[in-house]
Amino acid sequence: MAKKAEARIVIHLACTQCGERTYTTNKNKKNDPGRLELSKFCPRCRVHSLHRETK
Ligand SMILES: [Zn+2]
Repeated sequence: MAKKAEARIVIHLACTQCGERTYTTNKNKKNDPGRLELSKFCPRCRVHSLHRETK
């Protein structure tokens, strides 16, 4: 059965320091209408940095 509305969508998280897309995740569009920002470990920078949602 298909869902009525696509509330949960796949997003990519990119490092704000180097721009590397290091993570893919999903979010609920209704709960998070804006851009997600998470502190994640970037393997290129080799530090924890802020990762922002990209399409
Ligand atoms: Zn980085």
